[in-house]
Amino acid sequence: MNIDNLEPLFDADIMKKRPIVMAGPCSAESEQQVLEAARALKEVGVKIFRAGVWKPRTKPGGFEGIGAPALEWLATVKRETGMLTSTEVANKRHLLDAVLAGVDIVWIGARTSANPFAVQEIADTLASLPQERRDNLVVLVKNPVNPDLELWIGALQRIYNAGIRRLGAIHRGFTSYGKHIYRNPPEWRIPIELHRRLPEVPIICDPSHIGGKRELIAPLSQQALDMGFDGLIIESHCNPDCALSDKDQQVTPEVLGAILYSLADRRENVSTESLTQLRQQIDHIDDELMELLSRRMRIARDIGCYKKEHDMPVVQQGRYGDLMQRRVEMAQKLDLSDDFIRNILAAIHEESVRQQLEICSK
Ligand code: PEP
Ligand code: MN
Repeated sequence: MNIDNLEPLFDADIMKKRPIVMAGPCSAESEQQVLEAARALKEVGVKIFRAGVWKPRTKPGGFEGIGAPALEWLATVKRETGMLTSTEVANKRHLLDAVLAGVDIVWIGARTSANPFAVQEIADTLASLPQERRDNLVVLVKNPVNPDLELWIGALQRIYNAGIRRLGAIHRGFTSYGKHIYRNPPEWRIPIELHRRLPEVPIICDPSHIGGKRELIAPLSQQALDMGFDGLIIESHCNPDCALSDKDQQVTPEVLGAILYSLADRRENVSTESLTQLRQQIDHIDDELMELLSRRMRIARDIGCYKKEHDMPVVQQGRYGDLMQRRVEMAQKLDLSDDFIRNILAAIHEESVRQQLEICSK
């Protein structure tokens, strides 16, 4: 099923400037916090305010959002600043409350879009709205937490089938196990493939949830723009260190202003687009290499502890020779030169030995 004949997400005054920017705190915490953030964000040119009203938390006991009463604060933001407002909805009740409160944009969160029952419930509720409301409401579908493109497309199709024509996607990265540079690794090839399959659906990148750290917001935003994404959704809080959720990834409105100012729009330069995409792939692979090396060193250190406990020497020549031999044979099948692989393995082995010696000398 194709998704076509979409309407622009927003009116011309927002669409004419790239990127579309949505910003605001992870969660609405108090009326004052919401209003302060909105006023400061307006100052730096943001026209669309975000704030989570219902917060899906991984474990019980975290801040689960203020709930429906916070919708009134969003209405005040809209009235006072003229900004459009947006929030996450996860079920029929959320959606109806948000629409009734005049929220302009709703997004379906990553945990919800992974569940077709939940998405269909929201779609059925959208289909039951009066035509005019359905025509004006912007609905954004975050990628499911798991890297499943078909599930993401399926969720978009369910919303499209409900008659929503101001429809977009949000790329927020994908859950993965273990230590990573990113909180939710971006797996750029997935949103790129989404764009290939559904070229009419605008994609907004969420560098806050991908990176999980303030310092990653600027580079991720630039990468998203370089890959042709249409917009950014960025978490911003006047006092990030005191935020009740996602404090490590929120920036102040001033910092956000500086980040937005620093972004270069290289879209004009169509000829470099494929080069950029190839470079993104290289960046991604390098990230994976670093994570693999880090895992390898961790295991090498465990082996170091074992050797120490059992009074074994750190270097066992037989083992090193076998390892090198096997890897070099494998490298030939992978079109990697002998010398290159020998150098890399020697450097890795040297570092493992250094770390194991450190453990044994303790
Ligand atoms: C959010 O945007 O605050 C949020 C909870 O995001 P996600 O669904 O991507 O985890
Ligand atoms: Mn958040």
